Amino acid sequence: MRIECPICKRVIVDAPDDHGPRPFCSTPCKMIDLGNWLSEAYRIPVSSREDGTEDSDDHTLS
Ligand SMILES: [Zn+2]
Repeated sequence: MRIECPICKRVIVDAPDDHGPRPFCSTPCKMIDLGNWLSEAYRIPVSSREDGTEDSDDHTLS
């Protein structure tokens, strides 16, 4: 089978059908992709409502 590694763009034209790290050329490339995926997952914004507009009315009491 033919493999075009999405990480390093290397093309393997004669990879065996049971090529372990497919669709990557090698296990290190697979690990890099996994790391990229995890960092994407952690990039979700924690809160977009921290500008304090909700408490602005309370300032009139003090
Ligand atoms: Zn690769």
